[in-house]
Amino acid sequence: MEIKMHPRGMAFLIFCLGSGFVSVVYLNRGDWTFLWMYREKSQEIPISKNQTEHWLTNWFNCRSQDTADKEPNTLQLDDWFHASARPEVSTLTDWSAPIVWDSTFKRSVLEDYYSKRKVTVGLTVFAIGKYLDKYLKTFLISADNFFMVGHKVIFYVMVDDLSKMPLIELGPLRTFKVFQVNKESRWQDISMMRMKTIGDLIESHIKYEVDFMFCMDVDQVFQSDYGLETLDESVAQLQAWFYKADKEKFTYERDPQSTAYIPSMQGDYYYHAAVFGGTPLRVFNLTRECYEGIIKDKERNTEAIWHDESHLNKYYFINKPTKLLSPEYCWDYKIGKNSDIKNVKLSWMPKEYGEVRSNS
Ligand code: UDP
Ligand code: MN
Repeated sequence: MEIKMHPRGMAFLIFCLGSGFVSVVYLNRGDWTFLWMYREKSQEIPISKNQTEHWLTNWFNCRSQDTADKEPNTLQLDDWFHASARPEVSTLTDWSAPIVWDSTFKRSVLEDYYSKRKVTVGLTVFAIGKYLDKYLKTFLISADNFFMVGHKVIFYVMVDDLSKMPLIELGPLRTFKVFQVNKESRWQDISMMRMKTIGDLIESHIKYEVDFMFCMDVDQVFQSDYGLETLDESVAQLQAWFYKADKEKFTYERDPQSTAYIPSMQGDYYYHAAVFGGTPLRVFNLTRECYEGIIKDKERNTEAIWHDESHLNKYYFINKPTKLLSPEYCWDYKIGKNSDIKNVKLSWMPKEYGEVRSNS
């Protein structure tokens, strides 16, 4: 068979319907790719125009997916991020990580980039004891509506009582995996031991299943689109009450006995442990370091002031996050009117500790 090369064309095809095979040759970005399809006796060769188009479309889609997988990360900050779109707030850290506020990102650019790569995003959430009855259903229904709309999502739900798992019908591209975990007797330990469970789950499941992931508290509700603009290697959430506070006001752990210790006047931001995320590998490192710090503190008979959140702040102080989310991504309406907050994506549920927390 003789193949005539088209000098610059993006793609051209030669179909050669021979007696025993179909040969397809296609040119893409200068590479020749040969695909030989041997005809099985029982198999129909797609030769009608519609069939052929359908078959080729599938094949081209697969091919471009392969290419996208092999391409280096080509999305540059300037392609999708307008640092100057919100001049009244800070949109870049000292280490040049974007601080994502409403209106600072170009959604269409991100959609185009991530749709080609067919990303899957994981979301872990724990609902233990009364938190399961009170918050989980609302959290999941709102996440189904607003978290990564149009993209594949796996919810990893950790409960202490499988029979109470709310049976909600999720939208397309969404699925959940439910895991039973032991209930620690102290609420502080329920919160802190999430670091161990998340790390274990990343090793056993998440690293095989998702490209990016978030870990969230259950006592929150999604209010509007929480999308691709939040994805990055290592993502931290600014705590709504502290995003404009001076450093010395941050409630970091100040006791040098604790592994979470940060000396006064040090640190960058006060981050909220109700939301953190990144690639499975980066989140794994974070959860393991925090868990090790928590265990060392227990051995020293100490406990950081804000538990896992203190350890998370220490981790991000040492390992700077690559993206920060504005308080619009985890807002407390109790703070009241605030002109910086243009579009709330996720909000706190009212704290009713008397009702949900008990140390048995
Ligand atoms: N949590 C839980 N049951 C408990 C205590 C905590 O399921 O008894 C989980 C739940 O996901 C919760 C998170 O741990 O959202 C952190 O606890 P909490 O929300 O009370 O902490 P805060 O937001 O007050 O820092
Ligand atoms: Mn919470």
